[in-house]
Amino acid sequence: MELKVCHLYPELLNLYGDSGNIAALIHIGKRLGLGVSVERVTLGDRKSLAGYDLIFIGGGQDSEQRLIAPEIKAFRGAELRAAARDGVVILGICGGYQLLGNYYETLGGEKLGFSGTVDFYTKAAEKRAVGTLRFRCFPKSGGISVRGFENHSGRTYLGREVSPLGAVTEGVGNNGDGGEGVRFLNVFGTYSHGPLLPNNPELCELILKTAEMR
Ligand code: GLN
Repeated sequence: MELKVCHLYPELLNLYGDSGNIAALIHIGKRLGLGVSVERVTLGDRKSLAGYDLIFIGGGQDSEQRLIAPEIKAFRGAELRAAARDGVVILGICGGYQLLGNYYETLGGEKLGFSGTVDFYTKAAEKRAVGTLRFRCFPKSGGISVRGFENHSGRTYLGREVSPLGAVTEGVGNNGDGGEGVRFLNVFGTYSHGPLLPNNPELCELILKTAEMR
């Protein structure tokens, strides 16, 4: 079987080498007998997000997220919401994770509208969360222990019907309340850079198998 992967905004959202997650998907996919084809969709592309099995979005600075916000509001948000409803695996890392929420409130109080794929919002904080980030995924995501690092000013607050991806064992995570990331349908969001998947092959396998079985 071949998995079609979309790497969304790779030219802007690749903070701390998050594109290494794509390499892990290809490498570990091969080990699982899965062909993984990757298409890059950049800002201004008109290519539809329909037809992919997995969509990956890396991390980025506030300024890069601000560049992307208008397109997310105009049409990419609707595509991401449709993909999530169809069970497409979406993996967002840090800034890419934040883009999956309803909005990002800057330190100046400006609310940047994001995709609304999952019900949560993010609010910038003066003090950045920087350092080792370890968390244990909840059973729905295999109970996998994950290790990486975080570097974000945003604090993410999940909607009532939305669960974290896991429980923090070291670091800040979403906002210091003990939750890290999000898992909603087949949408995975996390603050963990590393890159995430090369450092956590078991999670990479789970994500590939979820995309294969959708
Ligand atoms: N700009 C966002 C923040 O500071 C995301 C940062 C990141 O992707 N590491 O919270």
